[in-house]
Order: sequence, then C-alpha cells, then structure tokens
Amino acid sequence: MEFNLSEVGLGKGQQKESKVEKVLILGAGPAGLSAALYAARAELNPLVLTGTEMGGQASLTHTIENYPGFPEGIGGAELGELFRQQAERFGARFEYDLATAVDLSQRPFKVRTYSSEFLAETLIIATGASPNHLNVPRESELTGRGVSYCATCDGWFFKDKKVVVVGGGDSALEEGLFLTRYATEVNIIHRRDQLRAGAILQKRARENPKIHFIWDTVVSEILGNGVVNGVRLRNLKTGEVRDFETDGVFIFIGHTPNTQIFQGQVEMTPQGYIVTDMQMRTSVAGVFAAGEVMDPHYRQVVTSAGMGAAAAIEATRFLEANSSS
Ligand code: NAP
Repeated sequence: MEFNLSEVGLGKGQQKESKVEKVLILGAGPAGLSAALYAARAELNPLVLTGTEMGGQASLTHTIENYPGFPEGIGGAELGELFRQQAERFGARFEYDLATAVDLSQRPFKVRTYSSEFLAETLIIATGASPNHLNVPRESELTGRGVSYCATCDGWFFKDKKVVVVGGGDSALEEGLFLTRYATEVNIIHRRDQLRAGAILQKRARENPKIHFIWDTVVSEILGNGVVNGVRLRNLKTGEVRDFETDGVFIFIGHTPNTQIFQGQVEMTPQGYIVTDMQMRTSVAGVFAAGEVMDPHYRQVVTSAGMGAAAAIEATRFLEANSSS
C-alpha cells in the first residue's frame, strides 16, 4: 500500500529541518523504558516520546507483586519512575509528546507529534494498549461520573459506596480486590460461570467477604442521570433482565493495542497487534515493536520489559549493520 504523506499531516510544507535520531522510542511503559535503558547503555542517546502516560498502564496499578526483585511488591507509579530514572542516568532523553502520524515508507522514518516532527534511523514502537469499552448505552456520557477503567485512579471516590466490576480476568479480580478497600460491596459481573483469572486472585476474591459474583450476566445499559445509579443486567442463560443499583461501574474486559497510526504501514494481526519475529522486528526493516502493542498473550511488566530490552539490542545491531555514517 502506498503511503500518502499529506493524509497524515506530514506534507512538505510542514516539514522542518530535524536532527536524525539514531533510536526513537514511542511509548514510556515498561517496554519503552527498558528499550530506552538498553539503547542508552549502547550509547545511542535514545529519544522517548512518552505519549500520555509515563510508566504506561503499569503506573496505574496500585501494587505490582510479580515483578522480580521486589519481594514485598512495589507501587506501579514508583516502578515506572525507577525505570525512567535508570534510563535517564545512561543518557535517554524524554519528550512529553504524543505521536499523531508516522511515515515508515523510507529511512529516516518520520514521526509527527502535535507540536513537532522527528526523524529516526530506527524506531521502537511501544505504544501499549488501551482498555476496551463495553459500548453500551450511556457508558461514554457517564465515564468519570461513576464509570471508570482504573480502580487505582478512581477507587477513593467510592468510599462507603457500592460498585460493580465487569469482567472475569486477572484485571477484574485484582482491581475488584483493590476496590474492597473503599467500597462496602464489590459485585463482579461475569458473562460466564468460570473465571479466566489465575488461581491466586480467584482464591483471594472468593475469600473476601465484600466480593460477590453475578454469573452468566452482561451489562446491557448503564443507568443514571448525570451520575451512575445502576446497571441493567441480562442473564445470558435465562434471558432475565433486571436493574441493579450501584454507585460505580468499573470495566475490565481486555485491551486494544494502540496501533491506529501504524495502519497500512507495518503488518498487523486482524486484532490490530503489530506482528514481529522473535527479534522484535516488524515487517519494516529498522522498525521494532515491544510490549502490549504486539503481545496479546503475556501482558506482564516483566515480559514487556524483556521485549523492550530485546528490541533495543536489535535496533543497535541494525544500526551497526546499516549505518550510513
Ligand atoms: P482478559 O484476560 O482478556 O480478560 C477479559 C475478561 O473480560 C474476560 O473474563 C472476558 O470474558 C471478559 N470480557 C471480554 N469482553 C467482554 C464483553 N464485551 N462483555 C463482558 N465481558 C467481557 O483481560 P485482563 O483481565 O485485562 O488481562 C489481560 C492480560 O493481563 C492477561 O494475560 C492477564 O493474565 C494479565 N494480567 C495479569 C495480572 C497479574 O498477573 N496480576 C493482572 C492484570 C492482568 P471471558 O472470560 O468470557 O472471555
């Protein structure tokens, strides 16, 4: 597919003279920050365009208990900040900017942001993934008014209130357990009668007296006038529809990779994940991808960090083999 620069706002009139970065990293989650550390230690002086979230989704997690080296667990935001400091110590640079368009048709690659344009010999895509929405009536208008995708961010607002959590995976249970610190009651609504979450979280959730499960059920509508006051539930086995009172609706039903700006330029799966080989190489030579933007399977801080490190090692090798200077 031919790529039209003017379509993405990279027309000639808007280009300006820019330094060509050796390694440009998009995203500052565990993958992007680990790539930054490794590229910095290879003395490539990488530039990270952080996107909207320094530390990525992990920074929104209250406590991370499964990142090796922290036997007591560590706060997600704190871990992200340690990653950033470590990369910076070796020369990584950070721009608090968001890529809005790219042109990967030739090297140096071009990346446009809201305020600037960057050129790069190699690109590491680590833009992560965003939480899925239910796409039911009133979800959008009540987001921030009782509907949330982040318990760590919004849990406090539900002190002594009643909430529902939608989903049956690790995120739903982990965030549901976190919400029991504040809420009087946490009702987990799952579309099946078996949880997808791992055994430890299942055990903790089942043993927590504040947690209740509503099985085989979906939320078909969110209710409320200005703020959430309930959800309409539909039992998938019986067909029964009923309204259920709640002050908050926390939705954890998986993620969608943040790959819209790369559409048509690198190979992707039908679900929009970037396709890479074992060396984190995408279909475009010199463009690498790491973390949740290409990984629908593991989605752990430790695996994303490992992939970020691998991407930076491969970018270093690519530059050694292809450097024009
Ligand atoms: P997930 O494992 O994909 O689970 C999503 C859940 O949402 C599933 O239970 C799914 O139901 C349900 N769901 C999906 N679409 C739905 C819809 N439209 N309506 C109602 N329910 C819907 O996502 P996740 O929990 O975010 O976890 C993602 C990955 O991160 C997993 O690999 C997980 O292990 C990992 N993770 C790990 C930890 C940890 O280790 N502590 C914490 C968080 C996440 P079905 O089960 O019926 O498909």
